Amino acid sequence: MELTINSAARDEQLSGIREFTYLVRSTPGAVGFTIGEPDLDTPEAVKAAAKAALDDNDTHYPPGNGYPYTLEAISAFEAREHGLRYGPEEIILTVGATEALFVSFATVLDPGDEVIIPTPAFGLYESIVRLCRGVPVCLPTENDRFQIRPEALAAAITPRTKAIILTSPNNPTGCIYTKQTLDGIHQVLADKPIFVICDDVYRSLVYSGEYHSFSEYQDMRERIIVVQSFSKPYAMTGWRLGYLLADAPLRERLQVFHQYCVTSVPSFVQRACVAALDCDVEPVRALFKKRRDYVYGRLRDMGLTVQEPEGAFYMFLPIGRFGLDSKSFCRKLLAEAGLGLIPGVFFGTEGYVRLSYCYSDGELKEGLDRLERFVRDSKI
Ligand code: PMP
Repeated sequence: MELTINSAARDEQLSGIREFTYLVRSTPGAVGFTIGEPDLDTPEAVKAAAKAALDDNDTHYPPGNGYPYTLEAISAFEAREHGLRYGPEEIILTVGATEALFVSFATVLDPGDEVIIPTPAFGLYESIVRLCRGVPVCLPTENDRFQIRPEALAAAITPRTKAIILTSPNNPTGCIYTKQTLDGIHQVLADKPIFVICDDVYRSLVYSGEYHSFSEYQDMRERIIVVQSFSKPYAMTGWRLGYLLADAPLRERLQVFHQYCVTSVPSFVQRACVAALDCDVEPVRALFKKRRDYVYGRLRDMGLTVQEPEGAFYMFLPIGRFGLDSKSFCRKLLAEAGLGLIPGVFFGTEGYVRLSYCYSDGELKEGLDRLERFVRDSKI
């Protein structure tokens, strides 16, 4: 008797980023710029709201998509901060942006449907698409300054294309899509039945450039899903909270996977969501902007030509001149210089490595000193 499980689950690799991060952590004396999470604590007001909810015994099943007051707060926040008009009936509070992404792909994909993933990209997308029996189709952007050329997009579309994911600011490049890029995408997609999933989890961490999200193209509202997270701007990665926005009929269907998978997010954290939306993220933005400027300046001084990121907290460094693939480069850098970066191949793009600057000034200085020595000793 042969016992088999779902082949998609059997064949999918676990996250390479997590594995590499573990390798760095278990290397004595290593400095790692591997993690994509703020090195800050959750704001006191957010923690206090959750504590008060617990003390009030807010510990019973909440409504599946979120308490009405939470959805109202998100609706008001999106209108105020981002000019987006989504009513409470067009929102689902999710277990991080990760669940929102899973629910989105699971809902729109039939087996064999293709999803265009502009690369480099957050590795989770490909895995989720495959687990949902879809087919990831990579659209390389590294030769286009990490923008999407309309002709390249048009060439990637087939009769099986069901969706495209847009991440701006991007993980791992920190780049944001220009208005021209978004207009081009809008034009290519205008007459095609393709969903657009906007992963805008870093949109409150933009430092330069004029920010636009594809969610502004409300003429395509019936096929846009916006994915958001509390993780990054409010240092709430461990709370596992996010949400999605979608036109009412689509949201009505999106709740199916959400309901049968998680029922709802926990009850007593929902007051914390409201408190978070009231927090001023400007100091966080200013802190990461300062770090970006420092890291970018140091890399330039080392002769490493990096495209200046406009948001998030990552830089994507080209390593072509070292003559190594990204995994070999990262292993060598870790072994010889005691610095951990993440291989670009985990984001679907060889020849680059990702550096996260979610670290203190002291750690950044130490790590960049190590990188500088490594570059100098490599004599390239
Ligand atoms: N989207 C992007 C682009 C991300 O970088 C991340 C986290 N690294 C997520 C989604 C997932 O965020 P969450 O913690 O809300 O699940």
